[in-house]
Amino acid sequence: MTNVNMETIVSLCKRRGFVFQGSEIYGGIGGFWDYGPLGVELKNNIKRAWWRAMVQEREDVVGIDAAIIMNPLVWKASGHVDTFTDPLVECKNCHHRFRADMLKSDACPNCGVRGTMTEPRQFNLLFKTRVGPVEDDASIAYLRPETAQAMFVNYRNVQESMRKKLPFGIAQIGRSFRNEIVMGNFIFRDREFEQMEMEFFVKPGTEDEWHDYWKETRLNWWKQTFQIRDEHIRVKVIRKDRTYIEGPDPDDVKSEVPPHYSKGNYDLEYKFPMGWSEIEGIASRTDYDLSAHQQWSGKDMTYFDDETKEKYIPYVVEPAMGVDRAVLACLFESYCEETVRNEKRVVLKFPYALAPYKAAVFPLLRNRPELVELARNLTRDLKTEMMAMYDDTGAIGKLYRRQDEIGTPFCITVDVQTLDDHQVTIRDRDSMAQVRVEISQVKGWLLERVR
Ligand SMILES: [Zn+2]
Repeated sequence: MTNVNMETIVSLCKRRGFVFQGSEIYGGIGGFWDYGPLGVELKNNIKRAWWRAMVQEREDVVGIDAAIIMNPLVWKASGHVDTFTDPLVECKNCHHRFRADMLKSDACPNCGVRGTMTEPRQFNLLFKTRVGPVEDDASIAYLRPETAQAMFVNYRNVQESMRKKLPFGIAQIGRSFRNEIVMGNFIFRDREFEQMEMEFFVKPGTEDEWHDYWKETRLNWWKQTFQIRDEHIRVKVIRKDRTYIEGPDPDDVKSEVPPHYSKGNYDLEYKFPMGWSEIEGIASRTDYDLSAHQQWSGKDMTYFDDETKEKYIPYVVEPAMGVDRAVLACLFESYCEETVRNEKRVVLKFPYALAPYKAAVFPLLRNRPELVELARNLTRDLKTEMMAMYDDTGAIGKLYRRQDEIGTPFCITVDVQTLDDHQVTIRDRDSMAQVRVEISQVKGWLLERVR
């Protein structure tokens, strides 16, 4: 991160097809963003990296993909219908609305007049909809505000069908919806967003150990997956009696209490331009959710422990993160401005596995059909294994800069010499060093590096 500000990233995202304002031609709609051709690849690669670490490579975690709309009683049991609220105030002068806890003084952030705010009232963040043709109160349903509850209500189904013993986890990636009062900071806070959550069910009494284990595991995953520098990531420890920081800027912290369902949280924070902000929460949710569902559904949520012959409701440790925030952190961490031969070069130094395109292929001369054909054939061959693109719409220098700006690790040029020696030039995004590689070896050469 070269001290880049939010406007630069927002503008790059639009110009290069990462993220567009939702419904832009109609003036947009607050809190909804559309991922473009580059953004969808980056996002899918991040999701794949998470699923691989959390499900594929583990013996003790399995995945599900649940419906977004659940029985409304789920949200009664979880507390969302009654308590998932933010304090809303309205300026009596300009009628703008704000979250009371975000106001810094008694002056309206919109019109600047002092002392015009109404008393706060609790505003529920659930998105309401209706199920079926009858418009009465019994047909009201909600778009899920979190994916977690689907893991709780499916806990018995998964445990029995997969013959799982404690400790084990259930993971899910999916959309969630929150009718936030105030938007801002691009895709950091959205009304529609994507979550990656995992509920890890453990024996009561072992939850603190597992809470620490998941903090370390998740922190390492962030550092490795996004190559985040130590000074850009830290842990906020939120306990009932105190809040403190493990990592950089330990004095930059406000006292907090864990959410009502949690006996303690580890929040992983990234240093965004707007300050340290949460990118993942690791909550120790106790038996809060399973007990509530046992009570509301009347179904037995206990687990029979074969070894100790005890029956109990498992405790839960939950690492939960938002994909959109991960995309944003990835963009900031990867963004670089360099000066090369007196020219500014913008490079997104994505880790190879996350880069939207792994390779771009150019013919040195686009008016030489033999070169064009070789370059097109190579692109077609690469596309069977990875995202690759052909481009001949400019001079080589311009094509390189375009690929640098979208983070493509390797550019491959087919030149006149290729016709004789069957070799192409591969140029490295970060070092800009070039090597000659036999055309038949290119795919293997790339796969060794970008997987
Ligand atoms: Zn006002």
